[in-house]
Amino acid sequence: MKAAFRSRDIAIGYLRQLEEVHEPLGLRACGCGATGMCRTREILDRPWVKDRIRELERREHQRELEERFFPDVA
Ligand SMILES: [Zn+2]
Repeated sequence: MKAAFRSRDIAIGYLRQLEEVHEPLGLRACGCGATGMCRTREILDRPWVKDRIRELERREHQRELEERFFPDVA
């Protein structure tokens, strides 16, 4: 079960990397160099994708805090 969650987090991490490459640069410009509407950006802007990335970041932050303040438990 833990391996399944880890695989999911790796996949969501790939989406986050894509989000970095396709960062919006003002109106109708994308970090990938596309002008006009970037089709990848359209997918990354879907609420489901955004929610998964934010959840991953929240879990990573929680894990960092646990490791910092309770290093012997992890
Ligand atoms: Zn793009």
